[in-house]
Amino acid sequence: MDITFEHVTHVYGQKTPFEKKALNDVSLHIPSGSFTSIIGHTGSGKSTLVQHINGLLKPSAGRISVGDFVIDANQKKQDLKPLREKVGYVFQYPEHQLFEETIIKDVCFGPMNFGVSDSEATKRAEESLQLVGLPAAYWHRSPFDLSGGQMRRVAIAGVLAVRPQVIILDEPTAGLDPRGREEILSLFSDLHKRLNLTIIMVTHNMSDAAIYSDQVIAMDGGKPLLADTPEEVFSHVELLRKVGLDVPETMEFLSKLLKKAGKQQVVTAFTLDD
Ligand code: ADP
Repeated sequence: MDITFEHVTHVYGQKTPFEKKALNDVSLHIPSGSFTSIIGHTGSGKSTLVQHINGLLKPSAGRISVGDFVIDANQKKQDLKPLREKVGYVFQYPEHQLFEETIIKDVCFGPMNFGVSDSEATKRAEESLQLVGLPAAYWHRSPFDLSGGQMRRVAIAGVLAVRPQVIILDEPTAGLDPRGREEILSLFSDLHKRLNLTIIMVTHNMSDAAIYSDQVIAMDGGKPLLADTPEEVFSHVELLRKVGLDVPETMEFLSKLLKKAGKQQVVTAFTLDD
């Protein structure tokens, strides 16, 4: 599903003393099946941008298309259920939302919320738990007996069980150690390829953006500053640093490497930094 923003502006607290224009006339395109990373300094509008894709926020002006679903600033009330079914959202620390007595029940919750039958929800839950690599021996245990990394996998399985075509990841590796981070990112890279999912990831980590995505959007002051392949975006190291991004020294080197070699080789050859 292609995603398009046309002249989207978002103003928080409109007509109040706290009015803040968080997105300023944004036009951009996220092709179906891409892995897009959104980078940018804190407050540049990353979260505001992605929250428009599943209707968590409504534009103050402009329109957004997600496949054939259109959200227009001028439209009054709209049933967002068909959009939410297509666009899964993995919030920061998604494991904080686990609540059921068993893992399998927790993963069933999402699809059942969309009106799927008990047996179909169980089938999808089992399939999703397999996709995230949680062995069947755990499925009937409490999610609260798991390690942090495993809990995050269960929460991700809950989003996958709805069978979305697009997944939004808001800092998916926050709070994980380097090994946990690499595991989660490899999982999404694998899901992206196997299920042809469109992935949109908000990240502070430049290396992750460079290695895992095929498009990088660098936000600055509520607007995309650069939107291109990681090879191209990270060749503008000086500009990225100027807008407050912590681009490591190795980035120029990595960008050249990405240009020269297939990405797969780079993933295995390059040690992820923190
Ligand atoms: P980022 O995700 O890049 O850190 P955000 O999209 O969260 O940026 O924020 C963009 C701007 O909008 C910031 O100036 C932030 O302070 C402001 N903002 C974000 N959420 C709200 C809100 N709920 N109310 C008012 N201002 C907000």
